[in-house]
Amino acid sequence: MNLKEFGGEKAIVNFLKKEFNSKNKKIAKGIGDDAAVIKRGNTFQVITTDMLCEDDHFSLNYFTPFQIGYKSMEASISDVYAMGATPTYTLVSVSFKKNTSVEFFKEFFRGIKKSALRHNVQVIGGDTTHGKKMSVSITVIGETKKPVYRRGAKENDLVFVTGKLGGSTAGLECFRKKIEGNEKVKQKHTNPNAQKSLAKKVAEIATALEDVSDGLATEIKNICAESKCGAIINAEQVPISMETKKAAKALKKNALDFALFGGEDFELVFTVHLKNRKKAKKIATQVGTIIKEKKVYLKTNSKTAELKKTGFDHFK
Ligand SMILES: [Mg+2]
Repeated sequence: MNLKEFGGEKAIVNFLKKEFNSKNKKIAKGIGDDAAVIKRGNTFQVITTDMLCEDDHFSLNYFTPFQIGYKSMEASISDVYAMGATPTYTLVSVSFKKNTSVEFFKEFFRGIKKSALRHNVQVIGGDTTHGKKMSVSITVIGETKKPVYRRGAKENDLVFVTGKLGGSTAGLECFRKKIEGNEKVKQKHTNPNAQKSLAKKVAEIATALEDVSDGLATEIKNICAESKCGAIINAEQVPISMETKKAAKALKKNALDFALFGGEDFELVFTVHLKNRKKAKKIATQVGTIIKEKKVYLKTNSKTAELKKTGFDHFK
């Protein structure tokens, strides 16, 4: 049996949870959230790692080395914000192909540095090696007094997302189908930004929190699974930019599909208690409601149907 038949990422994570999650009280959260959380006195240390592989997460046909470095960092840092934490230190591991030029190598680390400076994160180590293809693995450490997990959503909480969704996938599809123009969505794919300025405000009011790396459908299902609840997502309310709609039209695809089943937008999806609705509205868009029944529904103008499909899965 291969990993696809095993059940994809969900089955892999469930297997690893059973294998490694322990009852050690210092571990506030092991496998199963955006990052692991370790208790250190009266603060919490947050640790996450993320891996990007050539021709899977990025292609040298349309990524500059600077962009590979920058995006890798932003992707990992996004997971720290998704725990309500502030990123502090990072370790950068990368395999370069043997014929890699010094210019390429330096540009890659210039991208790393740009992101590190943006988030006030210190690069403190890592590893370099060579491989048949390039791959990047970034570990980021952060800290917080109050972590926000995926597991805190309650019935009648409201679901919000920051920014707009689907842009990164629209950009990727434009690159793949060699569609001219559409620079803004292409940039969303090559130069995404983790939600630095909003992260703190979101963490203050969120009952559950996650970043949008695998599409809204997958993320909301993760929150519901961990919180033991369900949700109704209102299709009309999912925020999608004009640029993404335009690109979807050129691609003859549905922009809503990019938002629900795409990925790598690195926005934040979170739930809040009704009393914080006003505060949430100032920084994000309401897209749904948490319900008791453990199912996720998509409500459109014509009908409400269970949202069975999920977003991007590397093993499916
Ligand atoms: Mg995440």
